[in-house]
Amino acid sequence: MPDPSRIIADLLAHYDSHRRRLPWRSDPGVRPDPYHVWLSEVMLQQTTVQTVIPYFRAFLQRWPGVADLAAAEQDAVMHAWQGLGYYSRARNLRKCAQVLVADHAGRFPQTEAGLLSLPGIGPYTAAAIAAIAFDQPTMPVDGNIERVSARLYAIEEAMPTVKPELKARAATLIARDRPGDMAQALMDLGATICTPRSPACGTCPISRDCMGREQGIAADLPRKAPKKAKPTRHAVFFWLSRGDGAVLFQRRPDKGLLGGMMLPPSTDWRDARPWTEAETRNHAPVASDWRALNGGVSHTFTHFHFEMTVWAGHVADHATFDGPDDVWCPPDRLDSLALPTVAKKVCRHALSGGTLV
Ligand code: SF4
Repeated sequence: MPDPSRIIADLLAHYDSHRRRLPWRSDPGVRPDPYHVWLSEVMLQQTTVQTVIPYFRAFLQRWPGVADLAAAEQDAVMHAWQGLGYYSRARNLRKCAQVLVADHAGRFPQTEAGLLSLPGIGPYTAAAIAAIAFDQPTMPVDGNIERVSARLYAIEEAMPTVKPELKARAATLIARDRPGDMAQALMDLGATICTPRSPACGTCPISRDCMGREQGIAADLPRKAPKKAKPTRHAVFFWLSRGDGAVLFQRRPDKGLLGGMMLPPSTDWRDARPWTEAETRNHAPVASDWRALNGGVSHTFTHFHFEMTVWAGHVADHATFDGPDDVWCPPDRLDSLALPTVAKKVCRHALSGGTLV
């Protein structure tokens, strides 16, 4: 059976000489800035360290502290977040900074419970900030730590049912005197040695306590439940230009998928079937000489595939709409808009006249 105190000692000794140098980490013995920990943990959800590093640096340069982020324009934050996905996180970052300034004198609460009360901070992020920034005895359990736990204890039950058990096992690895370092040591182990497909057990500092390695099943853990097929949704986007060449974009409602981001207007995104020509015409934002562009655009979200076609139309000079969420943007200034990846694909397709997919 794995011995938690030996695992903690072995892994911390390894961490002291092999820790990854990351821009949000402080030097050994120095308490990390909770703002840095929070920002990096929110950015790291669903993406890789390499992707996050330039975003993290850019955010810090522009908004060096909580008060700076609280005072930022929402559009500026959304724009800086472009490409990281899950845009509600960017909205919540700013909202959270505002609550910290208004209710906590710009400082982070030090307990998990206090952190959990803030907008956009869930159990994982609260535990990560509490452990890493404030050395609270807790364990943030991310995908890396789940994998290490499953392997150390050779737990064969499938995800996601097994998650509570993995969390309980990981909690046995809290280092009372160095909880933040232990959490980061486990994250590092999962990212660099105990990797998803081919764990490097030969160089692993805790291999003598690993039941998964001993039983020869480590690489298959944690087991996954069979994946459900993703549904496909369909929509038509309307590329509407006016006399001066500007194109119409609309801001999506704050709540929901791509909330607060800018996209060209579209039909509903529906599951059932592609839109017919007559249906599309009824959903166009304005009467125009609409024509369907050749080909289409595909994009895959976490929960569904998205198949799109694009219709192009034109309205008279300087026509505007009164909608508060409408923006006309010249095609050479699209960089100024907070466009999610899917909208960029639609733009590329429309600007190529329908030749790019
Ligand atoms: S021995 Fe292998 S499977 Fe076990 S924790 Fe180390 S790298 Fe992972």
